[in-house]
Amino acid sequence: MTAAASINGGMKLDYRVQLVVSNGRAVDKDIYCTCGHNRKVKYQEEAGCCPNCGVTETREINYIYTGYTYTDTLLKVISKTDQEFHIKGEEFLISFDLPEKKFTPVLKNVRSLSFSLKDKIIHLSKNGQKLSPTDSNINPFFKGASTERVLDAISTDRNKELYRFCYNRLSCMGYERNKMWGRGLTRLKNYPVIETIGLSPLVNHLDDFWMSHKTLTRSKETMSPYKLLGVPKFMLDFISRMRTYPTFKHERIRQLCQHFDGNSVKLVMQIFDEESDIDKVYNIAETLIELNKDYDYSDLRRTILYITREVKLEQGIVDPSEAITLLRDLARMSNAMEKSFTKYPKSLKKDHDVALANYKTRESEYKQKEFVKVTEHPDYRGLAFTGKTFSIVGPNYVREVIKEGESLSHCVSSYVDDIIKRKCKILFLRDTKQLDESLVTVEVRGDVIRQVRGKFNRRPNTEERAFIELWAKTKNLEIQCH
Ligand SMILES: [Zn+2]
Repeated sequence: MTAAASINGGMKLDYRVQLVVSNGRAVDKDIYCTCGHNRKVKYQEEAGCCPNCGVTETREINYIYTGYTYTDTLLKVISKTDQEFHIKGEEFLISFDLPEKKFTPVLKNVRSLSFSLKDKIIHLSKNGQKLSPTDSNINPFFKGASTERVLDAISTDRNKELYRFCYNRLSCMGYERNKMWGRGLTRLKNYPVIETIGLSPLVNHLDDFWMSHKTLTRSKETMSPYKLLGVPKFMLDFISRMRTYPTFKHERIRQLCQHFDGNSVKLVMQIFDEESDIDKVYNIAETLIELNKDYDYSDLRRTILYITREVKLEQGIVDPSEAITLLRDLARMSNAMEKSFTKYPKSLKKDHDVALANYKTRESEYKQKEFVKVTEHPDYRGLAFTGKTFSIVGPNYVREVIKEGESLSHCVSSYVDDIIKRKCKILFLRDTKQLDESLVTVEVRGDVIRQVRGKFNRRPNTEERAFIELWAKTKNLEIQCH
């Protein structure tokens, strides 16, 4: 009698598994399948599926004796939808008789377990008796069953990866050492964003969201996934097709969506999809916005085709982000020199290098022109503030920043390029009666005061600090000095 016959014939039991028996270190493994087939596999190789019946599930045993026994649980679906499942678990004590190659199962317990996504509550019974759903009551339900076997029983195509995430991540947090189905599923109620993403086209990035978008995934927001991310609905499909989706990619994609209208963003994504790689869009987002905003590149289709296709085929520039950076630098230098330039040059690298050579010869002069454009802007000018004792003033000339650095013996002069690129603003705190005398230098990035330094990098004194605080409050700035 074969093993399969003894199980199927005796108990109408569909128990299909390959027992993988290790016979010691560096000794080939014996594999006994419940269908009756047995074979040897090299010790360093995977068992693979049974060549006779095709079963893939394996169960490893290290030391085998005649009459070896183990516990396994067979799962049967009672009912299952995208929203809930109700399953039966039959716990068997299985004896494997090595000389006879025979599996003998003895039914020990029958349990049932139900779960609904709506309230995340587990109902449990054992041999007809209702049990409270504690970890110690729930865990035996799954004893011996592999992750895949459980997922097959409890999940649908729509929620399979969400349930897998519950088991792999939520069930084993912080210092916990064991994965447990019960706590994995019930903990989902604390992470509504995980559920939203897990049931959306973005499910393939669930681990990325969990590891990288921590603020988002730990929040209690309940809204559609595209609203959670602050992108148009069509972006979900593009994002789901990206290989990874960490926070820094998301930030750039969102900037793109905020600056351009939906149709324009769609166009960018489609062209990148056809000509390049949607995973690289984030790389060009900031520069594309800059070209559009500051250098009048309004034909988005032309610009994207130029950086993804034209320069690749005709000029050998393969990387779109390299192309767009060259284009932006060409535009920036040409503008500074008040020279006209070809918007989509036939030889981008050459045009860029010629512009650079010309720019270098009169760099300081051009820098001053760009500097004034930035510092005269209301965003910069508007930060000036006059008080009784102290005032905040902004620079008009590059040389004022350099002089500030020399008078106070600190490195503010190295910030000139960052000021021109609008990465930061440098302002001077001065005595209202001596506005020409350097006293304390302030660095602002975005809406945040990042550094306040006086001579030899000294910190501001009490009165200076009080004035900075008053100024910050008036201008809606946050103070984050380290
Ligand atoms: Zn088999």
